[in-house]
Amino acid sequence: MLQFQNTLTGKKEEFKPIKTGAVGMYHCGPTVYDYAHIGNLRAYVFADILRRVCELADLKVTQVINITDFGHLSDDADAGEDKMTKGLKREGKPLTLEAMRELADKYTKAYVENLKQMNIKLPTVMPLASEHIKEDVELIKTLEEKGFVYKTSDGLYFDTSKDANYGALSKKMVTAREAEGAQTRIGANLEKRNQRDFAVWKFNQNIGFQSPWGQGFPGWHIECSAMSMKYLGNTFDIHTGGIDHIPVHHNNEIAQSECATGQPLAHYWIHSAHIIINSEKMSKSLGNIFTLQTLIDQGIEPLAYRYWLLGAHYSTQMNLTIDSLKAAQTGYKKLLNIFAELGENPKGGENIKDENKPDEKYLNKFKEFVFDDLDTPKGLALIWDLTKDTTVDDATKRTTMLAFDSVLGLDFENFTKTKQNQQEIPRNIIDLMNLREIARKNKDWRRSDELRDEIFKLGYQIKDTEQGPSVKKI
Ligand code: AMP
Ligand code: ZN
Repeated sequence: MLQFQNTLTGKKEEFKPIKTGAVGMYHCGPTVYDYAHIGNLRAYVFADILRRVCELADLKVTQVINITDFGHLSDDADAGEDKMTKGLKREGKPLTLEAMRELADKYTKAYVENLKQMNIKLPTVMPLASEHIKEDVELIKTLEEKGFVYKTSDGLYFDTSKDANYGALSKKMVTAREAEGAQTRIGANLEKRNQRDFAVWKFNQNIGFQSPWGQGFPGWHIECSAMSMKYLGNTFDIHTGGIDHIPVHHNNEIAQSECATGQPLAHYWIHSAHIIINSEKMSKSLGNIFTLQTLIDQGIEPLAYRYWLLGAHYSTQMNLTIDSLKAAQTGYKKLLNIFAELGENPKGGENIKDENKPDEKYLNKFKEFVFDDLDTPKGLALIWDLTKDTTVDDATKRTTMLAFDSVLGLDFENFTKTKQNQQEIPRNIIDLMNLREIARKNKDWRRSDELRDEIFKLGYQIKDTEQGPSVKKI
């Protein structure tokens, strides 16, 4: 039985999919105005584990991670500068839509590369907020027709007092501390009817998209509502994000979606905890961030960071120290070596499962742990128990470790191979390949072909395989 801690009810609940044998999940994606920090990446490792666990439970997964390339203000609510504008200023770029797109492109590529470095499977769809303005406008129109929005001098706002259920998520929050003062950060805007009202569209005379209400940008919350419902339906199974999203972003998504459709947005809301450093949340605004590259520069491999993350439950706050990461890397390397010493399976490759079954007792135990709200710490402890168990032969151990790895994603089998391969391909080619993969995920075949041609002109040929695209020098 699969079960998850549901923020909406405050309880651990059995997972009952809307459609038998399938699951639809939406994860709030990055705002691509800068490199992701490793705290951000925890949210996506968590999403990846969730997806892999659902796959182990034989569910067909439709997974959506959006790319927020417009519309996210520095404050999660309506105050503060637009994050993309901030990024443009930081990089000395002009304030134009074109420059914004370039900025978004640069950091989207870097994000996809980070996902791959962390062995996070690419989602089924990665919609760009900028390509869903039409859907945002439609949703806002519905809310307007139903009387949920009003206009002020700087935008169109959702009237939270009209939604009797507003704040559904926070009501069930275990401690008020988790709100982390997000509500109080909302600057006092005297034109708002209620201070917790939020913008669904913000006017901007200089730059932005056209809308029936004036030029500007959609609100960050409406973007997620529009994209999640477009790809997963008005009601879908699971919605996730970091705990900072609970008080504002997710409450607002729920309010506007449910008032527009009259149906629940998602049945299960699951939230991952933060990475902190010296008792402070890792965040760009506090200037205490580590990127994956910072770790690599300190000799820590991305997958050692993944191993470190899996050592704690996703809902546990983790304090980052380089020493603890180094210790995790030592453990991870030891595990890789143990795996390597178990020898190549004589049948190899895809036959492994048929020819050599995983140890049933261990696999069942593993499932019991990870199906219970993704208990990866117990899953990791079990893999160590397995390595020490002299009653299990090497070939079975190997197959069982690979079965566990379908969830843990520590890449026992391919890690070294993939890394060597990637090092031979120049950075710009990998970047273009990553962009092409997003285009393919989004079924944008024209863009995908353009990118293939561009890669070809640079002297590399792409081959699409079942395991994903591979590239070689012509
Ligand atoms: P953002 O790009 O700011 O929208 O954040 C992307 C994801 O990272 C969200 O799910 C956040 O909740 C999450 N996040 C932000 N800071 C941290 C942190 N220090 N630790 C863990 N997750 C974080
Ligand atoms: Zn979102």
